[in-house]
Amino acid sequence: MVEQMVCNHQVGGSNPSQGFFLKMKIVLIGGPGSGKGTMAKLISKEFDIPHISTGDLCRNHVKEKGKHSEYIKKCLKDGNLVSDEVTLELLNEKLEKNDCEENFILDGFPRTIEQAKKLGDVDHVLFFNCSEDILIRRLTSRRICKNCGQIYNLKNKNLLPKIKNKCDKCSSELIQRNDDKEEIISSRIDVYKKQTKPLLQFYQEKLKEFDVSKDMDDNSMKEIFGFLRMNGPVV
Ligand SMILES: [Zn+2]
Repeated sequence: MVEQMVCNHQVGGSNPSQGFFLKMKIVLIGGPGSGKGTMAKLISKEFDIPHISTGDLCRNHVKEKGKHSEYIKKCLKDGNLVSDEVTLELLNEKLEKNDCEENFILDGFPRTIEQAKKLGDVDHVLFFNCSEDILIRRLTSRRICKNCGQIYNLKNKNLLPKIKNKCDKCSSELIQRNDDKEEIISSRIDVYKKQTKPLLQFYQEKLKEFDVSKDMDDNSMKEIFGFLRMNGPVV
């Protein structure tokens, strides 16, 4: 879990010899199951931009028994969003600690207009659009490595583990996250529709929409990478 949250890369521009990478603030918006977590990791790798998942920040906080862990546990269990204050506190800590205030991909934040206002200016907002039916199908078949956090999907041939129920990377067991269980999912989707969808309006001018109804494949990746390359700034 820790590995994917690390954002101690060189901040863009400070070391141009590393090759092609971008310095920008990217926000990803999409329903639970839209694939934004997976895509965030791929973009992060391709362009050397730190990936910060507020979901992971929260889960990690619980794991480390931080001061908000009881509260966060309850939110995750009930399918509710963690409050703005707590999320921002964890996020700011992360940004400051890892020197990535100018260069990041945020996944899972902002989820409300209030949060977006607090976050301030960003360069791109990528919206992963997908129907509700497909979101539900994907979420119920999602599995996650309980050791390293790698995500798999039993209904997507690109995301199947090589060995049944085992992580490709570390061979640990794959589990279904509590908040991916069916009874929680519909409440997560309701919360998304009610709170996050208004963000599309808020970010209207920065928004770039991608249709992710089909499973994420090389073409959807190319489309997204291509867009970011065209819309730098490259440093
Ligand atoms: Zn693993």
